[in-house]
Amino acid sequence: MSHWNQPSALDRVPLARSEEQLDLAWRHGVVLRVDGDGQIAARDASPVTENTRGPRGPDDIYLGVFEGRAWFVRPVAGIDGESVTWREAPEGEHDPLAAAVFLTRWHATSPACERCGEPTVPDLGGARRRCTACGSLAFARMDPSIIVAITDPDDRLLLARNSAWPQRRVSIIAGFMEAGESAEQACHREVFEEVGVRLASLSYVSSQPWPMPRSLMLGFEARAVDSRIHVDGDEIVEGAYHTRADLAAAVSSGEVVLPGGASIARHLIERWLTAG
Ligand SMILES: [Zn+2]
Repeated sequence: MSHWNQPSALDRVPLARSEEQLDLAWRHGVVLRVDGDGQIAARDASPVTENTRGPRGPDDIYLGVFEGRAWFVRPVAGIDGESVTWREAPEGEHDPLAAAVFLTRWHATSPACERCGEPTVPDLGGARRRCTACGSLAFARMDPSIIVAITDPDDRLLLARNSAWPQRRVSIIAGFMEAGESAEQACHREVFEEVGVRLASLSYVSSQPWPMPRSLMLGFEARAVDSRIHVDGDEIVEGAYHTRADLAAAVSSGEVVLPGGASIARHLIERWLTAG
């Protein structure tokens, strides 16, 4: 996940998106097939990038240049056969795949103009949409969310279980930002709502796009004022502070299951584990 701190490996080529340039890129490009649920057509657990053939379609999305080749997405209604999600794919391809999933879903769910309600069409190879009536332009949206690794004054990490998760699965606290709120305010609010914890300090660590369906996760770490926890009993059903030794033992015995390696949640947990 640390690669999200580096420049993107996908060049979105904003200045090479005329129809002629798009056609030229298409002739030498590769194309992924992605459906509206974010599933990517795959073979042997890897996304399939086929050489483009035939004409470029009006809904084909130009992602940009990745590893020297032009990458496109052809949105499809569904995928027959094997598919993967972007996070199941090799990490080296996460930059174009996250963009592919975001853009496919956004185009599928944004057929009408927000200003006048008339139909919109893809523009600049799907980098934006343009209203056919009033000309207004729309760009893909991301919903910012916060995620916070909270430690108590003894440097133990708070892990909690969401009511929607299986038994034994735990993670750190996360939630969506409310309108008109800063990311820091969202951290203070969500943490108090879900686990009743007041934060003495809070600092930003890093971010990660999370197209499930369209989040941007903003990762923080925080210190609680004391070790008290009061779970809300609704969204969060259990929570506890762990020492590094406790957590390592609980993970190896299978007593707790941590978030997957591609997630910022896991990154923040590992950051605490290795800081001790
Ligand atoms: Zn319009």
